[in-house]
Amino acid sequence: MSRFPPCFQPQSKCIALNRLLPCFTMNPILQTPQKSTCQSLSNATVAAHYQPYSSFSSSSGRSSTNVDSSFRWKPMCLYYSQGKCSKMDDPSHVDKFNHDCSRDFPVNAADFHRKQPQDFDFFLVLDLEGKVEILEFPVLIIDAKAMAVVDLFHRFVRPSAMSEQRTSEYIERKYGKFGVDGVWHATALPFKEVLEQFETWLTQRCLWKGKHGTCLNRAAFVTCGNWDLKTIVPHQCKVSEVKLPAYFMEWINLKDVYQNFYNPKQEARGMRAMMDQLRIPILGSHHLGIDDTKNIARVLLRMLADGAVIPITARRSPASPDNVNFLYKNRIR
Ligand SMILES: [Zn+2]
Repeated sequence: MSRFPPCFQPQSKCIALNRLLPCFTMNPILQTPQKSTCQSLSNATVAAHYQPYSSFSSSSGRSSTNVDSSFRWKPMCLYYSQGKCSKMDDPSHVDKFNHDCSRDFPVNAADFHRKQPQDFDFFLVLDLEGKVEILEFPVLIIDAKAMAVVDLFHRFVRPSAMSEQRTSEYIERKYGKFGVDGVWHATALPFKEVLEQFETWLTQRCLWKGKHGTCLNRAAFVTCGNWDLKTIVPHQCKVSEVKLPAYFMEWINLKDVYQNFYNPKQEARGMRAMMDQLRIPILGSHHLGIDDTKNIARVLLRMLADGAVIPITARRSPASPDNVNFLYKNRIR
């Protein structure tokens, strides 16, 4: 049986579907009644009133750098990012860890001068971690009009087919060096459960209708490369015995858009290269998914501010979902 949904709709159908959905207005996140999600529901507003911190320091083993020396980068509370922080009333904990997903993304009025209309109202920046199976699933929502990070979904993912011993070794190697292997073990969920929670999260934000076979509503995934949605997600779906959701059938590979927009002499083959060329310092720990996602979001925000239009770059063929069509001719291979 095909792993792909039988009723995967091409984009034009999705646009027709969007018109039927009444729940989207300028800022749906502000309208979504909820308690359990990222506190910064009004992140567009929060970001607009962003105040840099008064000193610079790194509060864990995780590295930090910043352009503005008055800004103090803090590592994200990885319990909070997964909706499980129980120390929000502990001032020393709140001082040490970031509990606001918009905090690293100041919005400046000057950034809006060259902004172009976009095909999508929301970009869902996704950067999965894991090689054999997915270990971390972080997604940041960027409001394309406000050019602001407005929400976050983050889960650690427990492998389905790997033995416990191998998983432990794998996690120690990958997350031990960041000092977050403990939180991984305390919070990781099987992929199937993560996907169910992600779908609830999407539906609450009117980013997905909640019906199998439908794609995202006025939103698109943004990845750095094609690996996340072309390779590892279909592989994990197969391992975890779930059908590949239709909302994963198309995506934006930011590297393709970057290459065609800036046309650099030297191809930017990854996140680090794009950040180096744009002179954006890398914050946090490279290969910790939540930090990489935030860094990719910073590249995307810069591109929006520089006047880039960010379209879909890859789409599976509805008739033959194993085939991916790449929509840019000039792309990094
Ligand atoms: Zn916390």
